[in-house]
Amino acid sequence: MTRDEINGMMLQAFQWELPADGGHWRLLKKNARALARLGFTAIWLPPAAKGASGKNDVGYGVYDLYDLGEFDQKGTVATKYGTAEEYADCIRALRRAGLLVLADVVLNHRLGADEPERVRVRPVDPGNRLAPPGQAQEAEVYTRFTFPGRKDRYSPFVWDHRRFTGVDTSTQGQQRSLFLLDGKQWAADVDGENGNFDYLMGADVDVCDAEVGAELRRWGLWFLKKSGADGFRLDAVKHISASFLAGWLSALREATGRELFAVGEYWNYDRSALEAFLSRTGNCMSLFDVPLHGHFREASHSGGTYDMRGLFADTLTDSRPELSVTFVDNHDTQPGQSLESWVDGWFKAAAYGFILLGRSGFPCVFWGDLYGIPSRGIGAVSQLPALMRLRRTSAFGEEHRYLDNPSLAGFTREGTGAVPGSGLAFLCTDAQGGEKRMYVGRAFAGRVFRCDLGGRPPVTIDPEGFGTFSVADGGMSVYTPVPGLLTRLWRFFHR
Ligand code: CA
Repeated sequence: MTRDEINGMMLQAFQWELPADGGHWRLLKKNARALARLGFTAIWLPPAAKGASGKNDVGYGVYDLYDLGEFDQKGTVATKYGTAEEYADCIRALRRAGLLVLADVVLNHRLGADEPERVRVRPVDPGNRLAPPGQAQEAEVYTRFTFPGRKDRYSPFVWDHRRFTGVDTSTQGQQRSLFLLDGKQWAADVDGENGNFDYLMGADVDVCDAEVGAELRRWGLWFLKKSGADGFRLDAVKHISASFLAGWLSALREATGRELFAVGEYWNYDRSALEAFLSRTGNCMSLFDVPLHGHFREASHSGGTYDMRGLFADTLTDSRPELSVTFVDNHDTQPGQSLESWVDGWFKAAAYGFILLGRSGFPCVFWGDLYGIPSRGIGAVSQLPALMRLRRTSAFGEEHRYLDNPSLAGFTREGTGAVPGSGLAFLCTDAQGGEKRMYVGRAFAGRVFRCDLGGRPPVTIDPEGFGTFSVADGGMSVYTPVPGLLTRLWRFFHR
């Protein structure tokens, strides 16, 4: 099979509430081949650097990018997921299993400074950060990072107030508020929410500072060598100068001569904001299709009143399919988290059907959907393994979408000769069940399609290549051609 005939997919290999037992890198290493057998071609690992909350840090509260679980800092050597050595072992095992490994990298901010500094700051209106900042005042801020546990190993770079743009609090009993460090300005090429969304949390890294830029490039090369990762999932890119990100990635690509696939988290439901970012960065990375996730969420929470005709309207998957990473949920949207916008369970399988069986976008499966979130009593999406299997056996060829009804939405794939037995019909509803006549291709005239998921009776394709497929209330159906002997033999030898 050629590369084009393998439908790649990514696993987000963690959820927020994994046990903080330091065992995750070992678990993934042990299961590397099993994950590849499930059809994954890429794995997004959680952020590996030591966070301010030590062993309990999910990794986004980054303290020291050079401590991947190697130094006694923040009360622990290992991170929530294990040691630096186990991280590199895990990546080696995943790559040996044929998986592309994407490291989650947080460049926007730092937390857990080692020492406070007395500096001049200017208060900023958090809701309108473009308004002129207030009078400069002296304050004690946590902006000095000396990494005493690391003792300059790998890099002697000390981070202090000169390397940050702003902080969100100071001591001395003042109210929690946002401050711009005196003499600094927010980066101009960031998201426009709150006037300027450079600042997200902690000490905001001044990526436009020349020394910071040089240090982050050094770190990137060090990290790629140390970890063995193939690319990146870049955190919080809407809060980071777009031109910095483009320069950083291209410097690493040039220095390593590697493709370094990258996908950015630009959390905005407005497609035009995502497209503006892609254009500012010269399309140097893919982005998660947040608008599509928003549609899935809305459909799942609208009690059957969502207009399914608009499911793909204004999504990145429709406008820039080659740069769209599709997903249903992630560690931030899961219940209890900062961007909680969980797709309700009854609609999950349908949402996965769209991203795994449709033609556009590179799908990412969430750990919490594949294995459940036990701490919240949330079970796995039971149809997910079957949908992943169907992605590999059936989701090929021309696509015909049927988004012409407010509640019944479907599509078909015509299949390809290169993958015997491929082709499918998909139908779902956010309300009452029903049926829809859809074209699967004249090549299937007279053939029978069986219902793999959804429990509906088989459908015989008419001489024009159409079938009338059906779906139950609030359900999803997937039909595939009944395989002949040759297809069964081919699958046996290609599984
Ligand atoms: Ca920032």
